[in-house]
Amino acid sequence: MTEVTYPDLAGKLVVITGGGRGIGLATARRFTAQGARVVVLDLANGDSDLEAEFVELDVTDASAVSAAADKLVASLGSPDIVLNAAGIVRSASAEEMSAEDWSTVLDVNLSGTFHVCQAFGRHMLAAHRGTIVNIASMSATVSNYPQKQISYNASKAGVVHLTKTLAGEWADRGVRVNSISPGYIATDLTAALLEREPELGEVWRDRTPTGRLGTPDEVASIILFLASDASSLMTGSDVIADGGYTVW
Ligand code: NDP
Repeated sequence: MTEVTYPDLAGKLVVITGGGRGIGLATARRFTAQGARVVVLDLANGDSDLEAEFVELDVTDASAVSAAADKLVASLGSPDIVLNAAGIVRSASAEEMSAEDWSTVLDVNLSGTFHVCQAFGRHMLAAHRGTIVNIASMSATVSNYPQKQISYNASKAGVVHLTKTLAGEWADRGVRVNSISPGYIATDLTAALLEREPELGEVWRDRTPTGRLGTPDEVASIILFLASDASSLMTGSDVIADGGYTVW
């Protein structure tokens, strides 16, 4: 893949939730390659070789997120970029999904994203600068039947609209907020789904015009663009990156 260099990212402070694995980790590596300073907030440190600081944090805990943001800003200053990549999925049909699986997914994917945007957003607004990128999903747009993930789909639709609402509120105070909606990407998250239902692999490829899963690096490339000044006109946008899945 061609590595695009964004000179404005060098020296920037980047906070990444869910940066321990998958898309978050791939993006953390790409930010460090651009010369940015990365802080990973996650339940566990997935890559101790990554040149980044690690803070153990559960994004569902609003007061812990707020305390972590205040502490981080006190020592390193207000972040230039925040990426919300923490996310989970639970599969069950609408009539069978437990109340716990419903709320756990909403808590991590939607409320967690809000807590992080709010806690760091307050500092970014005070500094009058910053960019937030939230990872939504193409599931915000399509139901992905026959996969049964009503809580995930609803949470990701919420992330897209949360992003637009924040963008509208914060645009004139120097903070941009955009989301990216990937299609199927080869990470532990999709590997776990395939382990339970191997036949899904063929369904996904058949329904994706490009005929393959995306890679975390392909998603990271778009996140870097959204985080850099190269996308300075964009706020409140949701960029669909799904190999064409949603065109059919
Ligand atoms: P992974 O499962 O590979 O990574 C998710 C990361 O989020 C893990 O490091 C995980 O920590 C962390 N995490 C989970 N819960 C919490 C929490 N409560 N607090 C802090 N961190 C948490 O997923 P992906 O990289 O595939 O997904 C990243 C994002 O992209 C998610 O929001 C996902 O919904 C979205 N996405 C993924 C797609 C895909 O096909 N893979 C497609 C579309 C969207 P731990 O390792 O400790 O569990």
